[in-house]
Amino acid sequence: MRKIDPRRFQIAKRRTSREINRQIALTLIRTHQPISRADLARLMGTRRGAASVLVSELLHEGLIFEGAIGEGRGRGRKPTFLYIDSRERYVIAVDIRATRTFIMATDLLGKPLTGISSFPTNREVKTLISDLSQRIKAIVADHGAVACKIIRVSVPGVTDTSYCCILHAPTLGWRDVNLKDPLSTAVDFPVQVENSGRACALAQVWATRGGAHTGDLAFVSVSDGVGVGIVVNGEILRGRHNIAGEFGHVPLSVDGPKCSCGATGCWEAYVSNLATLSRYFGRQPNDPKPMSAEKAAFTIEDLIARARNGDSKALAALQLTARYLGLGLASIINAVDPGRVYIGGEITAAWDLLEAPLKAAMAERALTALAARTEIRTVSIDEHPRLRGAAALLAAPAFAAPMVA
Ligand SMILES: [Zn+2]
Repeated sequence: MRKIDPRRFQIAKRRTSREINRQIALTLIRTHQPISRADLARLMGTRRGAASVLVSELLHEGLIFEGAIGEGRGRGRKPTFLYIDSRERYVIAVDIRATRTFIMATDLLGKPLTGISSFPTNREVKTLISDLSQRIKAIVADHGAVACKIIRVSVPGVTDTSYCCILHAPTLGWRDVNLKDPLSTAVDFPVQVENSGRACALAQVWATRGGAHTGDLAFVSVSDGVGVGIVVNGEILRGRHNIAGEFGHVPLSVDGPKCSCGATGCWEAYVSNLATLSRYFGRQPNDPKPMSAEKAAFTIEDLIARARNGDSKALAALQLTARYLGLGLASIINAVDPGRVYIGGEITAAWDLLEAPLKAAMAERALTALAARTEIRTVSIDEHPRLRGAAALLAAPAFAAPMVA
């Protein structure tokens, strides 16, 4: 996945592919819309005539449309501003988590078209695909007039490079699960599968619309497990085997608690919601011994509520998670030195309780004083970064462009 930085690019000249100029034009229209042809030409650093040829092509292909500012069409004003055409297509974004699966339809720019619905995740793949396809078909039936473009699924695990198989999803207990083909057959739409940490990172790149801090960032999604997406020089870090950025399974201590991946002492085993709740109950995370129904139903939100109501054990469990989060963040900062770190997940609702111990732990381990002050931003679960990420995944390849040197 390559993404143009709209502030730092050079227009491709003669010998480079015309396709690249098209992608640059699409990216600039997306990040600046509504935009006039003259402004587009100026931003591209090209002659107005050359930009107009590109625009005509994109209009002809239905990728963009013309409208007045605000899309108003009154008073005979000639509509000359360009917009990405997201009106006739939509995306169904799916976020599979170990406990629940979330689903919504968005337009091509990631704007929600439906509310978010959710249902308990059945880890048996066939049942999950059947549950999912029923819900997808219901959404498609409600949007009969518009063409669904694609189903994008974010999963808490390592995926293969062809957006097809889930190679290992520890919290789901999945190895080598092909989700794409059976789901695509069941709903009769193309399906793509991406790691949820990367989906979140992409959502962030997409949301900031080419502003500052999109070139180098880390997104840490703390939930049933821990997903991390790293963006370096505007590109998602993937690595040779598509596992780059899996900091959730970097050990904080080799003698630590057992992790869902089978190893011990992974960062996830210290900071996931399950780890925090287990600490509160004095258990090991991933302990096979059954829990009482009351404890099993107790959520991280319940724990935060108790901490706020003066339960010192609940507060201690959360603040120890904050400390471990900070230690792990220092590793990410020392390894990839991002411009900004985003943290998502339910625990961000307790940020006022977590920030101080987290930052103190980060400062302990970050290698320089400046690195220790790397900006941390929280992303509330109400923003649904994993779902928005799944939607952004669709749009990204179409609008992505390599940096043209
Ligand atoms: Zn692990």
